[in-house]
Amino acid sequence: QCILVCPTGALHEQRQDTEMVWEALADPDKHVIIQTAPSIRATLGEMFGMPIGSLVTGKVVAALKRLGFDKVFDDCFGADVVVMEEGAEFIHRLKEGQRLPQFTSCCPGWVKFAENYYHELLPHLSTVRSPQQVFGALSKTYYAEQAGIDPEKIFCISTMPCIAKKFEARRPEMVVNGMRAVDAVLTTRELGQIIKQAGLDLKNLPDEEYDEPMGYASGAGVIFGAGGGVMEATLRTVYEKLTGEKMKPIQYKSIRSDSYRELEIEINGELLRFAVVRGLGNARHLLDRILKGEVEYHLVEIMACPGGCVGGGGQPIYSHKDRWYMQVDAGNHRGNALFKADEAKEIHTAHENPWIQKLYREYLGEPMSERSRQLFHTTYTKRPMYGRMRHNLEEKQLVY
Ligand code: SF4
Repeated sequence: QCILVCPTGALHEQRQDTEMVWEALADPDKHVIIQTAPSIRATLGEMFGMPIGSLVTGKVVAALKRLGFDKVFDDCFGADVVVMEEGAEFIHRLKEGQRLPQFTSCCPGWVKFAENYYHELLPHLSTVRSPQQVFGALSKTYYAEQAGIDPEKIFCISTMPCIAKKFEARRPEMVVNGMRAVDAVLTTRELGQIIKQAGLDLKNLPDEEYDEPMGYASGAGVIFGAGGGVMEATLRTVYEKLTGEKMKPIQYKSIRSDSYRELEIEINGELLRFAVVRGLGNARHLLDRILKGEVEYHLVEIMACPGGCVGGGGQPIYSHKDRWYMQVDAGNHRGNALFKADEAKEIHTAHENPWIQKLYREYLGEPMSERSRQLFHTTYTKRPMYGRMRHNLEEKQLVY
């Protein structure tokens, strides 16, 4: 019964992919690459006795290189691409005054929830795939071309904060040129398991660097793993594109905490309203208020988990008794670690990342180009509504 009603698809896809990863690593015909989600760097250390909120970016890379991956890449690079595409989509909608508010679409838990319970809002979801899928699509096209490798031989693995990402990777829409964009998905816990199975002690490994050409991300890509991070990363680029000026940190820092935050910013004489929500209960409350016309926004970030991806269901967990408290509390420490990692970066906006500029200059053209749409944009499906999750709202299109 739980499998039928799970609104995120997570329970349906609960499976271990560790065996598949070992088999791929042992296959000499496969070129095995791995991408690490933004939040992993702030959570994996806990599985090796390190304090909550320890940043282990370089140690994760070192462990993956010792496990034998051909290339170790950063999914934050995919997040930077998402900012470019989703930001361009938002500016386009803003200029046309249509399908607003735009909802972020990088959380498969939220996307599946909307597909089950908010059919009328599906045209409002950004059409951009999540960083995991954007990265996967690039691995079988751009990277294959750059490295001169047959894309059929590339086996793309991702390490992710949640089980819903396994569901997302197997969606029929997530196919590129007849291939799955992402072949296997490890949760943070599964990644910790295979590192332990290999006898590596993460804590004592040196820091190593990601590989090129998809290993460098801006600070914007890194904060995708923290609550409010997707909105903040997108606004940094959108604001600069619309005004020609950098957004002041004080303007966006207010959306970093709590489960429901609002922000108003005047851009070119127009007051724009933004909202950030974490947790599907909070999301339902907000969506119903939007549909009743009680609140109006231009851009809304929804993440299914408390604290965002740092509090995801695939992250290290604690005793059953402490679980809820720890996930939320740990989420704050882990999220702060990601914001510190952003501060330590020399580049804080996706559009200033030189590797992103190279990608668009040499391969994609511009955001929302024909190639970008083919590789990164998707469609959504109306799925059956289970249970009584909805209030009695009329089905209607949003018009503002
Ligand atoms: Fe997965 Fe939760 Fe992050 Fe959504 S918020 S992508 S369900 S970890």
